[in-house]
Amino acid sequence: MKKGKTTPPHCSFCGGSEEDVDILISGLEAQICDSCAERALEMVDHHLGPEHRRRESSSSPLGSKSFSGSINLVPPRELKTFLDKYIIGQDEAKKVLSVAVYNHYKRIKQREAGKKLDSDVEIEKSNVLFVGQTGTGKTLMARTIARTLNVPFTIVDATVFTEAGYVGEDIESILARLLQVCDYDVAAAERGIVYIDEVDKIARKQDNPSITRDVSGEGVQQGLLKMLEGAELLVPPQGGRKHPDQKMLKVNTQNILFICGGAFDGIEKIIARRVNTSVIGYSNQQIEKVDRENLLQYVTHQDIKTFGLIPELVGRLPVIVHLDPLDVETLSLILTEPKNALLKQYQALFAMEDIELVLTDDCVSFIAEKALEYKLGARGLRSLCEAILTDAMYDPAPHMKSKQLVIDQKYAMDKLDRSRLSKLSIAV
Ligand code: ADP
Repeated sequence: MKKGKTTPPHCSFCGGSEEDVDILISGLEAQICDSCAERALEMVDHHLGPEHRRRESSSSPLGSKSFSGSINLVPPRELKTFLDKYIIGQDEAKKVLSVAVYNHYKRIKQREAGKKLDSDVEIEKSNVLFVGQTGTGKTLMARTIARTLNVPFTIVDATVFTEAGYVGEDIESILARLLQVCDYDVAAAERGIVYIDEVDKIARKQDNPSITRDVSGEGVQQGLLKMLEGAELLVPPQGGRKHPDQKMLKVNTQNILFICGGAFDGIEKIIARRVNTSVIGYSNQQIEKVDRENLLQYVTHQDIKTFGLIPELVGRLPVIVHLDPLDVETLSLILTEPKNALLKQYQALFAMEDIELVLTDDCVSFIAEKALEYKLGARGLRSLCEAILTDAMYDPAPHMKSKQLVIDQKYAMDKLDRSRLSKLSIAV
């Protein structure tokens, strides 16, 4: 290919260079800067009217979406029914989350309508904390509820944030991501949902070997406090670190619902110690009632504090939701039942080749047992299916009788034995 002289990226309309403009959006053979894009939009509005644009941009190619409509708020029971279509088991978690989310948005609706609940009663914000092993559906639950309500949603990882002055991302970039998914509609972002994953990883630890990264986590926890409680924050629209010349957007977090989640590895020991102490002096019958297989169901704010989250932060997460560990039966259902179950997705892929994919019952149980063995939660199902089905997807013909592809346990075991996944069982 002929190599020509490359010119630095610039706006194809006004000629402004990357340094001169705030955002430079690249197309196939041209770029446009933020101010030219704004001007172009004004022209579109002038000719077709702003309503036209709202209708057309309900889903943009960049993955951002318009959330200009009202919140689709339904009572908790209906919210849970919707969650049931996508999430297997976790009944208690779905119930508690549905109530918390309903109350949260009821509070917003009341404020928007300018009404007061009862004389001077002010309903406080109820952010949520999910405690559950990896791959048990914490993220899925937060994502699904946001979809039900038609509000902007984003997932962030608590471990990438650091205290101001350290290397890493500023806490405010959480809001930048939320703004991105709703096309920088500040009003929509201000009633969105943010899922902060791995919040257990910023728990207070004794040693801090790094001087450039706040690995002790306490600084990040302090940073999160203000945001969770509700504050007006200045957000750099492109995220990352703040820059002195950057234009900032003001975002109020008072109505944003924060859901924090984490596996809190080892918290069972803290719970066990507390449960053991509290049952001393009671009859043996009461001790037997404690379900030692699933101690997470007894988790309290006190346990979270002992684990290492600072009391102020724990106080801002008033709703604790525990997720049950997944057993073989639940994993089998996760593979086959939800609206967009993994098996249904593979069946759709094969159907595009006019092939009917069938997994025998013993094969489904076998995959579920392996997923449990690998300790990856439901996430392991995907890797297992890939290992088992890749050959068939690569070249379906040799395995086929007619237009039906039947995968039984023997076939699955054979494919798995040959894959690198089988080495996992030795590692864990
Ligand atoms: P977590 O956030 O708890 O680590 P995720 O929500 O990301 O786990 O789940 C990982 C994968 O497993 C996702 O693909 C999700 O669809 C699936 N999954 C996990 N738990 C469930 C469940 N209870 N019902 C249906 N799918 C689930």
